[in-house]
Amino acid sequence: MSISGSFDLPFSLHEKFRVTKAGKSTLRRTVDNVLLLVSYPHRKQISCVVGREHLERIDEFVADLRWLDEHGFDMVTDFYIMFAYDSLNSGDSSQLDQAQMVEFFEGVLDRVRGTKFERAVYYECFKEFTHGYCTHQINCGATNFLVQKNGDVYPCHRAQAEPDLKFGNILQLGLPEIAAKGAAAIRAYESANEDLSAECIACEYFYLCYAGCPIERNNNRGNRAYTCGIQKAFYRAQPQRFPPKPDASRRLVDSFIRQNQPHLYDDLSVPRVVKFKTEILDENNAVTAIIARDPQLQTLFRRGAVTLEVNGLRRELFSSHLYGRMTQAALTPEDEVRLHVATDLWDLNAGEGALNAVKLQLLRDERVVYGDEQREKMEHVATVDLYPAELVRTDAGWSLDLAPFLRQHAHLLLPGYGNLLSVTTLKAREYHYAKHARNAFYHLNTVNLPFHEFRFSYGERGDVEKQKAGTPLGMPALRGAD
Ligand code: SF4
Ligand code: SF4
Repeated sequence: MSISGSFDLPFSLHEKFRVTKAGKSTLRRTVDNVLLLVSYPHRKQISCVVGREHLERIDEFVADLRWLDEHGFDMVTDFYIMFAYDSLNSGDSSQLDQAQMVEFFEGVLDRVRGTKFERAVYYECFKEFTHGYCTHQINCGATNFLVQKNGDVYPCHRAQAEPDLKFGNILQLGLPEIAAKGAAAIRAYESANEDLSAECIACEYFYLCYAGCPIERNNNRGNRAYTCGIQKAFYRAQPQRFPPKPDASRRLVDSFIRQNQPHLYDDLSVPRVVKFKTEILDENNAVTAIIARDPQLQTLFRRGAVTLEVNGLRRELFSSHLYGRMTQAALTPEDEVRLHVATDLWDLNAGEGALNAVKLQLLRDERVVYGDEQREKMEHVATVDLYPAELVRTDAGWSLDLAPFLRQHAHLLLPGYGNLLSVTTLKAREYHYAKHARNAFYHLNTVNLPFHEFRFSYGERGDVEKQKAGTPLGMPALRGAD
């Protein structure tokens, strides 16, 4: 059996507040009883509640923490901290404000840095802010149960003062019914709570925090966790362990609103995320399945329908979105660089007499927000259509000299492999966009340019190794024949 005990720390606060009616100290007896717990052979947890008084006593707090550790407690693993909060109805005011909680956290951390207690601060003392606590869910009612001796069920000790959060009686209902009633009770309770704050809606740590405990927000009439400030400081102090996750958080905020406070979406200024359609995961809607049903797309995506030739060495190009890899080429102004477009790609969607061209799109690694979608994309540097007059007819299709194009745009190219050339034909591109219009799944699968492409550096050959080291893609540069 595990024993959990809570007492005032530093002990000087016990001495100040926990006296008998006659004003006599209870400290000695309490400390003796606390020390009795040391010999308990099974799991034990001790905790304390931190409020305003603690801010003036951080040195004492840390000293008593060490003292308890020296007297047999493992204060690295068995101790945690909670923060006092004031109910609006209590008229009490022992709660630290947001900034003061951060001050307390940083004050303790500063005093234990480099000791074994530093680990305690990061991992144990504030573990209610980490994963796995009752607060870390959209609805705590379906998974947390406290059963009173008469069989009445509440989610937790806090809830026992909340008649609306009695889920039922375990002597009359089975666990599934209790869980269903619990979830419904918390939904109704959250619905009557203050509307989730704009700060929480935009918070990249919502995936960890979920705006805290609904009862605490209710008692405070707050719209975010009363520990919001320290939670953010705690997460930011450990970015590897608690990285900001804006996308996951946005989805969870959306679920929170839809389940608990759907009235928030009556206001169209509240941002919401696109409802995720699981059909996109159906393998029949995968881009490979769509291509398999469409001979034109099979040509459009055929590996090697476009070939890059550098100083006589050739490499087949492909769509990096489809193949999951990217071709890279280290080019210099002295190189002979040619592109070859195969006949089947040239003929795609190009009937007798159609006016076709090779379409080159040059992009670079500057992020730009474009168009109606307002999506952030690579910056477009140049688009060029090369008609047959500028191309060379070959046995296998059409060929073009890329060197003049590269020289013309050299001043716009970025160092390293920060440049990308996408290659298709006018008619193939038309087919691609017509397919977009006909098939939403194709559109979603190919929302970024899906054509044959390669990344390249453009500079002195001596810079190439340096450029390679700087590439975010880590793929080999184009060198030998293959
Ligand atoms: S009401 Fe608050 S303390 Fe109780 S189970 Fe839910 S989140 Fe936890
Ligand atoms: S840390 Fe929690 S309470 Fe604070 S803004 Fe983020 S989700 Fe809201």
